[in-house]
Amino acid sequence: MQIDNRVTGTTRFAGLLGNPVEHSVSPQLHNTISTYLNVDFVYIPFKVEKEDLENAVKGLRALNVVGFNVTTPFKKDIIKYLDDTTKQALLMGAVNTVKNIDGRLYGYNTDAEGFARSFKEETGTGLKGKKILIIGAGGAARAVAVKAAIDGADSIYISARTKSKADDIASILNDHFTCDSKSYALADEQTARIFNECDVIINTTSAGMKPQLGISPLDGTGCRFSEGQIVYDVIYNPPLTKFLSDAAAAGCKTVNGIGMLFYQGISAYEIWTGIKVPPEMLKELYESFKGILKA
Ligand code: NAP
Repeated sequence: MQIDNRVTGTTRFAGLLGNPVEHSVSPQLHNTISTYLNVDFVYIPFKVEKEDLENAVKGLRALNVVGFNVTTPFKKDIIKYLDDTTKQALLMGAVNTVKNIDGRLYGYNTDAEGFARSFKEETGTGLKGKKILIIGAGGAARAVAVKAAIDGADSIYISARTKSKADDIASILNDHFTCDSKSYALADEQTARIFNECDVIINTTSAGMKPQLGISPLDGTGCRFSEGQIVYDVIYNPPLTKFLSDAAAAGCKTVNGIGMLFYQGISAYEIWTGIKVPPEMLKELYESFKGILKA
């Protein structure tokens, strides 16, 4: 019988804390990288109940993990259990990656990094100087908005169903960055006006994914895509939302959230291990990653 040497006495591990975690493709992503790069490191998902989060973190610290990812619903709550958090992640109000450095736990936000890396990779341009409209004002919107501001966007407008949440994100941007930021209600005709002026439109709402399949957050608004706009949907499942198919029909460059998901994982792996995943491997891995999401 062949002995399986994948996990031995020297193997280090990273975890994923969330609820649910069964759908996560992060274990396949991280474990594939380790196998290909021959790194003695494994990644394991843990489903954690809300009241157990603090103990789960204490346990991971005691076990001297390399680090861990944090997913829904703990990206905000985790911050109070960490020793330090990057300024960017604090502005984003969310941590999705934690690194253990000599027993101290440091929080990062690689969702935003993943968004920016995939935007650059898939559109061939960066966020610098762009006029951007973000639809939605939840956790993903705040991370994307702060990252766009950090990367030098010219204007960042937030339009959301619940306008007070859009106001909060615009205030954070206006308090910390020099870009022009304003907030709107999604149903307001001002959103339709600003929509035409923007180079980049980003959907950060969950409209278009289960259980809201087949709808777009723009339904019932006067917003119309124009040819040449870059249109990004952070939703990755389904890969083609109504928002994106409407944009493609209008001649826009469209990008879905698969790249964001992929690159948040790559950035987390690089933070934990200090290893830069080689570009030639990234390309091949990305194709395989899209395959497992389809399956
Ligand atoms: P969240 O904090 O719950 O925010 C959801 C936002 O969507 C809120 O602004 C909500 O508005 C809005 N919304 C929901 N249904 C809507 C509708 N029918 N019309 C208009 N607005 C609607 O969630 P989140 O964490 O930001 O996640 C949002 C999406 O991003 C999810 O689809 C998630 O899967 C995706 N995501 C993707 C990645 C990636 O790696 N690709 C990473 C993170 C998140 P109200 O406040 O009015 O309810």
